Amino acid sequence: MTRDLPTPARALAVAAHPDDAEFGCGGTLAKWASSGCEVSHLVLTDGSKGSWDPAQPADELVSVREGEQRTAAAVVRRDAPGEVHFLGWVDGELVSGLEQRERVAWWIRRLRPDVVLGHDPWKRYRLHPDHRHAGFLVTDGTVAARDPHFFPEHDVAPHRPRALLLWEADAPDHVEDISRFVDVKLDALLAHRSQHTSTMGITSTEGIEQFRRRMTDRAARDGRRAGVAHGEAFKLIGET
Ligand SMILES: [Zn+2]
Repeated sequence: MTRDLPTPARALAVAAHPDDAEFGCGGTLAKWASSGCEVSHLVLTDGSKGSWDPAQPADELVSVREGEQRTAAAVVRRDAPGEVHFLGWVDGELVSGLEQRERVAWWIRRLRPDVVLGHDPWKRYRLHPDHRHAGFLVTDGTVAARDPHFFPEHDVAPHRPRALLLWEADAPDHVEDISRFVDVKLDALLAHRSQHTSTMGITSTEGIEQFRRRMTDRAARDGRRAGVAHGEAFKLIGET
């Protein structure tokens, strides 16, 4: 188990839905941002299926979730620079084809992150197809971004990130110490208010405390893998 990459100058989290980046790497992004790292988010789908209320209009949910993601990113970044971009593909219908890979590669070339973070596409028995496809888009998009013969029509130069960190990893082998940033991660997660009752299981004020405890316990479990109080665990691909 390795621990703590050097703080990158720029990091990019590629997430299937609004809230995935905060669950997967919110503490790590907050820690790096506190040292001046430029932290950006690329959200692939529009989040339009993220409600248990069948009567909720999809377009309303999309704009609410965009706002929540911008708020969450601002909580994580505080004063550090960074950008939030939405590719707007339909929630639940994400595919990892060439067209989508080209877009992800373009954003990696345009934002030039030293570290890219995303879903692990090789996580076994993962049910949600968007998370699987988002994982392949982040790995395949990174390969395409670095090599000049992929998408030579791009108006941005090829870019090779130094490392790729995959969250919810099938075989985690790296931990980022987030002991001082658990509260920031939780505040960023809770900014996704539309997800409180569904994804986060929060139905009362007490529920917020229970959620904070559950997530803190999870961070403690991941931290123990590397001998720190609280951590986020990843599969590290150090040579892209
Ligand atoms: Zn998700």
